[in-house]
Amino acid sequence: MKIARFGENRIGVVVDQDIVDVTEIVHAQDQHWPPVGTVCLIADFDRLRPALEAAALTGDRVPLMSVRLLTPIPWPSKVIAYPVNYHDHGREMQAHYRATNQGFFLKPPSSLSGPADPVVLPANPGREVHHESELAIVIGRTARDIEAADWRDYVFGYACLLDMVVRGREERVFRKAFDTFCPVGPWIVTGDEVGDPSAVDMRLWVNDELRQSANTRDLVLDIPGMIEMAAAVMTLHPGDIIATGTPAGVGPVVDGDVIRISIDRVGEMVIPVRQGVSGHTPVFDTPYTPDIVKQH
Ligand code: MN
Repeated sequence: MKIARFGENRIGVVVDQDIVDVTEIVHAQDQHWPPVGTVCLIADFDRLRPALEAAALTGDRVPLMSVRLLTPIPWPSKVIAYPVNYHDHGREMQAHYRATNQGFFLKPPSSLSGPADPVVLPANPGREVHHESELAIVIGRTARDIEAADWRDYVFGYACLLDMVVRGREERVFRKAFDTFCPVGPWIVTGDEVGDPSAVDMRLWVNDELRQSANTRDLVLDIPGMIEMAAAVMTLHPGDIIATGTPAGVGPVVDGDVIRISIDRVGEMVIPVRQGVSGHTPVFDTPYTPDIVKQH
């Protein structure tokens, strides 16, 4: 099943090229704030699933092209992200560590944006903003101190994710926290539709130039390990998002670029890049260009 948000905070199930509004089944009020409707759907999915499946079969279908898709989970309790989780990316960054001996960091939920939203570059001249193509895991149930072997019990589904970053040596979270620096979508695909996520192809293009191409089999810390590590530190809640790390090929984007990310059995997003006027901070006043080793 594909779960999406669209329009004015509506929840939908995607069926082929259409979407069926299931907001009333979830009992999430339109305009409700904070927007936790999809978190509630995920937390209560076992009970809701038959009604959602029935709606997908018989409900009024609206063409996907006619609606504006929103980020599927705008208000998770946290977005967890694993740094340097592909060896080839570690080599291009000349990083001396990997996710296995570094752990994770967090991105603020306010950085989340949707498949129809542009990435807005902050006004920090002399700094590059880079794309990072990543598979997102969406947590399905409360988890703490779990065994890696039980990982499947805690996964709701998957999505495409861009972990945008201002390159530099300052605090990683600071450089990755800007609004629109975490596009997620175009929807969440439930785990049963994706099957085994340990061998999924992922690609990213900028203006139709292929920049990143990888398979999740090359993850350093695998998906079970990422869930176990996160749940060793903190309680994971339904709707929490894990960014699994980016492969080699990261690079800058500028005003007018178009980023396309495609993950097999998950979906595709096409995200324009715009230069914004806000976001200037003196922290970035010293110019910095990363020394990235290009690999082929
Ligand atoms: Mn990343």
